[in-house]
Amino acid sequence: MILEGKSVFGGIAIGRLSVYQKKDKQVKRHKVEDTAAEVARFTEAKEKAKKQLAQFYEKALKEVGEVNAMIFEVHQMMLDDLDYIESVVNMIETQNINAEFAVATTGDNFSKMFAAMDDEYMRERAADVKDISNRVISILHGADNGGMTGDEPVILLAEDLAPSETVQLDKTKVLAFVTRYGSTNSHTAILARTMNIPALIGVEFLKDVDGKYGIVDGYTGKFIIDPEEAVLSEYRVKKEEDENKKRLLQELKGKENVTLDGTKINLYANIGSVADVASALSNDAGGIGLFRSEFLYLESGDYPTEEAQFAAYKAVAENMAGRKVIIRTLDIGADKQVDYFNMEKEENPAMGYRAIRICLDRPEIFKTQLRAIYRASYYGTISIMFPMIISVKEVRRIKEIIAEVKQELSAKKIPYKDCEIGIMIETPAAAMISDLLAEEVDFFSVGTNDLTQYTLAIDRQNPKLDDFYDAHHEAVLRMLKMVVENGHKGGCWVGICGELGADTSLTETFLKMGFDELSVSPSMILKVREAIRNTRL
Ligand code: PEP
Ligand code: MG
Repeated sequence: MILEGKSVFGGIAIGRLSVYQKKDKQVKRHKVEDTAAEVARFTEAKEKAKKQLAQFYEKALKEVGEVNAMIFEVHQMMLDDLDYIESVVNMIETQNINAEFAVATTGDNFSKMFAAMDDEYMRERAADVKDISNRVISILHGADNGGMTGDEPVILLAEDLAPSETVQLDKTKVLAFVTRYGSTNSHTAILARTMNIPALIGVEFLKDVDGKYGIVDGYTGKFIIDPEEAVLSEYRVKKEEDENKKRLLQELKGKENVTLDGTKINLYANIGSVADVASALSNDAGGIGLFRSEFLYLESGDYPTEEAQFAAYKAVAENMAGRKVIIRTLDIGADKQVDYFNMEKEENPAMGYRAIRICLDRPEIFKTQLRAIYRASYYGTISIMFPMIISVKEVRRIKEIIAEVKQELSAKKIPYKDCEIGIMIETPAAAMISDLLAEEVDFFSVGTNDLTQYTLAIDRQNPKLDDFYDAHHEAVLRMLKMVVENGHKGGCWVGICGELGADTSLTETFLKMGFDELSVSPSMILKVREAIRNTRL
């Protein structure tokens, strides 16, 4: 069977299909007769959860260091807590209820109890006990790891994948994404590009394909289920050719980003986690042009602490060994929803309470992040960038908050460096007043994903509008030109960190406009380098 979709990242994948199961957050109560069997189910799930946590600990130790990894040890210990176990077992035995409900209720009770305690450390455990309970419940539901239970990497099929779901997947087990919904410019599509795996959207796949064999052609948008042997061998050849092409690009490693007539440009990588630094480095990124720090918040069950953030930023700065690392401060809202922020439902979330607006409204969250970034600045070359700016007033307020943070650190004799300060130009307002904004900051980075969305009044999340979302629209290109000119006049360097930066049909245009930097998904760096090196201005 051949289905058609829209490609959001090229490449060929061949493998078994796995239908992603959403984690069912609703836990229903029902009666059980055999309570001993139910207790055994709980014990087995608890042990499995501990094993998972031990694996997470090892993974986190390598990726984010011991301080951050410790939490997984704490979680393992909590699962062995006798009061916790006794409460679950008691409920099952005395009320004849299912294990899921007993775990959920115990989790709620313990979490409330911790939250009411005097001690700050104990209060923080409230989120942890909820987290471990949810883990056990997922295992009881048979949906741990999003339904990917085997060791074999799979082609993952889903109705849609939220960014928070995508970041939690075990990336080594995903060969390709195929979704029914989603749009080319959504963050899930961006993550697929970062992960360097083929991805299709808009595919009307059937439900009963789990476990079948399939092929994803990220170049033509074809999704083939149960291919015949002849088709399979044809695609095996295509896959090898594709890999050869990618290997040829590898020869560009270590080469300069320079045009045939000598114009140079910086080529940096966009990342969403500490783990992505590996692919930025292996693709020869000159720096990190956009670290989407909100993914730290999306991955976490509660506000990430200053320590956890510090460790992540420090790890990125150290791993990049002195090369520039631009950290974008928290940009949640719209499609990036974080449960524990408890945000009200909005009519127009893309134009709502998001990004810098939340940070200026809730300075305690903002200051925690800025403190972590400044502390990490000591260990490398960090620049800070602010999302969704619309006015000079916002930038001035940010600078006041930064001054407070620096003063606090100095008072405590905590070392930090002075960081370059920049803003994202991703609203038409910022583009139109870029001459004024240039007086306030050191650099601009154009977020073409949002700039296009707001300029054309097209929701980047709405797949129905993909055909109208014209990133080459003259209005967008004129703004880009204007932003570079105004930025340079005001002494700023100017880059692009939106997806358009990787569009090689525009590389020459960007170079002619005078951009100083392009920041793209790690998997696109060598391709863009190739385009730069083939350009004559
Ligand atoms: C953008 O809007 O272009 C951008 C880079 O930020 P994000 O895609 O994370 O909104
Ligand atoms: Mg944006």
